[in-house]
Amino acid sequence: MSQPRRVAVMGVTGSIGRQSLDVLRRADQFELVAVSAGRRLDDLVAIVEEFRVPRVGVPDEASARHLAERLGSGVEVVVGDAGLVELCRDADVVVNAVVGFAGLPVTLATLEAGRRLALANKESLIAAAPLVERVRSTPGAEIWPVDSEHCALHQCLVGSSEEPTRPDVERLWITASGGPFRGYGAEELAAVTREAALRHPTWQMGPKITVDSSTLMNKGLEVLEASALFHVEVDRIGVVVHPPSIVHSMVEYVDGSVLAQLSAPDMRLAIAYCLGAPERLAHHWGRLDFTKPLHLDFEPPNRELFPALDLAYDCARRGGAAPAWLSAANEVAVEAFLEGRLAWRDIIPLVAATLEHFEEGPLESVEQLREEDARARSLAHGSLPR
Ligand code: MG
Repeated sequence: MSQPRRVAVMGVTGSIGRQSLDVLRRADQFELVAVSAGRRLDDLVAIVEEFRVPRVGVPDEASARHLAERLGSGVEVVVGDAGLVELCRDADVVVNAVVGFAGLPVTLATLEAGRRLALANKESLIAAAPLVERVRSTPGAEIWPVDSEHCALHQCLVGSSEEPTRPDVERLWITASGGPFRGYGAEELAAVTREAALRHPTWQMGPKITVDSSTLMNKGLEVLEASALFHVEVDRIGVVVHPPSIVHSMVEYVDGSVLAQLSAPDMRLAIAYCLGAPERLAHHWGRLDFTKPLHLDFEPPNRELFPALDLAYDCARRGGAAPAWLSAANEVAVEAFLEGRLAWRDIIPLVAATLEHFEEGPLESVEQLREEDARARSLAHGSLPR
């Protein structure tokens, strides 16, 4: 690469944002041209100073004034969704590391501008799949999945059929660590605490996705994400529990061959793959050691004790805004759980109860999606314990 690739990291103060910076620190072929954050302004200031970032996005005017005072006139501060959209247009690669549905403007704007989207925000793709599909055909637009399972599938699908229905693929297999409560019985699950849910056995991640991993909703959302990304219907996508988190996912072809991608569980590998492609960046974190015994165990998930999985498949089959409802209600439930207002065992039942009010129909516009999202959230809020 002669010119440095211009990178923007949206949601830079979160877990994926920080790990993206770590990748950028160790590679000189990139230039960080824009960052955004919704919270942790002190951290944001430190990042802008360290990387000499020329443009910054924040959600509101008060944060913008605060930041402008601290950073001086050399840094341009932009505000709100409109500001984010501008930042996305100005980069070669945009890392969408915003948490939840709030990442939607970044996903759409990056693809509309014909840029590469390094997607860590699965919620925007899941909720808006039919709308994302329309802007994906913009010349230059590409989605490179940062989510480790999808990054693995992406690598295992290299060389597969270009036909839209992927006739040479029998099944995509998404691996799951099983989360911290694998092997628990119903009684133990009923007594789960906030602290226990935030302790993931193999991955270092933000609180929202860590809780989603403990309910297996993260895996359910990943099935929807894989279906939207790779155009494979959910009935050809399986989930398999693999506690060591070394095989990140697999593609089973029609001839019975299974291709897998293996690595140490470190998100920086996936981020580096998405930023550098088609070049692979040399780095030294997360190597597997094949000179020692290595156990690659697989087992089926317990769908009765972890009903989030079947709920997600069901939403995929219903289509339209059903995945948006699933994701929105789950965001409300997880937030309430993190605030201590909802028990762990009530997270998925609250999502299921919200979905009972969903009415099927096509999803046609961003405005409609925002209305559906708001309705699901309001119903979920209404079912929270007082
Ligand atoms: Mg994942």
